[in-house]
Amino acid sequence: MRNKSRLNQRYPVWVLAFVAGLGVAACDGGAADDHPINEQTFSNDLANLLDGSEVFTAGYIWDGRSDSYLENGAMVVREGRMMAIFSTDQQALPDSGVNVTELGDHHYVIPGLINAHGHVGVADGLDAGAAVASEELVRQQLMTYAQYGITSVVSLGDEPAEAFTVRDSINPRNPQMARLWVAGDVLDPQDTSAARDQVAEAVEHNPDWLKIRVDSQLGRREAMSGEVYTQVIASAHEAQLPLASHMVTLEHAKGLLRAGTDLIAHSVRDTAVDDELIDLMLAQEVCITPTLTRELSTYVYAERPEFFDDPFFRQSVSDDVLEQLQQPEVQARFRGADADYYETALPLAKDNMMHMFAAGVGVAMGTDSGPPARFQGYFEHLEMEMMENAGMTAIEVMKSASSVAAQCMGLAGDLGELEAGRWADFVVLAADPMQSTENLRSIEAVYIGGELFTPPVNR
Ligand SMILES: [Zn+2]
Repeated sequence: MRNKSRLNQRYPVWVLAFVAGLGVAACDGGAADDHPINEQTFSNDLANLLDGSEVFTAGYIWDGRSDSYLENGAMVVREGRMMAIFSTDQQALPDSGVNVTELGDHHYVIPGLINAHGHVGVADGLDAGAAVASEELVRQQLMTYAQYGITSVVSLGDEPAEAFTVRDSINPRNPQMARLWVAGDVLDPQDTSAARDQVAEAVEHNPDWLKIRVDSQLGRREAMSGEVYTQVIASAHEAQLPLASHMVTLEHAKGLLRAGTDLIAHSVRDTAVDDELIDLMLAQEVCITPTLTRELSTYVYAERPEFFDDPFFRQSVSDDVLEQLQQPEVQARFRGADADYYETALPLAKDNMMHMFAAGVGVAMGTDSGPPARFQGYFEHLEMEMMENAGMTAIEVMKSASSVAAQCMGLAGDLGELEAGRWADFVVLAADPMQSTENLRSIEAVYIGGELFTPPVNR
């Protein structure tokens, strides 16, 4: 994918090249040559590697990419990053002098999950807008994501300035919250001159992405013209920034792709996708974040949803917000033409996702969580279950929320796989997630940068 240079902040390849031999993952930077090494050499070098490192062992480790687990796995972590990952069946650890954290013989370790389309700092409960914005709110929300195993969030637009401050203040070695990327104000210029101006203004704030919304908001306004969004995308690329597009229709998706968009940020919801769209996405290596839970959130509160009784949901949602969402006048907001449109669009969105997925288009797990009643953390799990129900296997969904999301969002140098060179962000599960995405809920612990994340006390 083009124009992601700012996102691809690859670290110097200081990962030891010798680990390439024994089925040990090599750094994405490509420094490791694949020459085989004998066990003796590895053992000697392992001693150096282990010195000053922390080792995490677990019965089953999934690297984010493979179709099976590494059994009796060991991960060597130093300064927040993975140094090596291997099976202790192939290379035993020394009996002493090693700093080992046992994550459990019957436990499953997966990469920290990535939400490729969220929002932070835009709402507090059901209240949205500048009045609720604060650094504390952003931090709290990033901790909520982390609590649910979502250790990285690409926030695609409308964040307050405080989100940029928090992003810049995060210590990547020990964030104690989800890692964050931001897009800033969603751009909506009316002409090409305004398009150039809005991009120039947005760039001043040093965003990681830019975002445009081109749809007519179901007829409430004029859709953005092709000439204008083409200019926005050209200006974004001049500024070396990738651009995500909020759209509804197939025609918009195609137009945006021809203009060079770097992400289709929602499902196509007006009609079935066709080969022309799929070919454009494949040719340009552009991914989609289906945001199925976004559609759900537009109508599901018309009546009390079942998940209000789910303890996994309740652990992060205040009683106050739940009460508000059950008041008749609030429920009424989730009925009407808009709700009907999106409810009807949801099965279509799922079908379209499956068509694109089957054709090889990158589908990155993304939810659009963050605005009112789109619950951060829980909605990512709901999204993954909906993706599985739509026809993806659990492991395909897991890839979508790890290696594929990282690739799609330009984060693959640092995240998305448990591989030497990347951040040691991982989730420890009690149940096998390859059997069902529901098992992704069985979170025992979350590590970010190799440090145990300690969830905040209940709000
Ligand atoms: Zn969004």
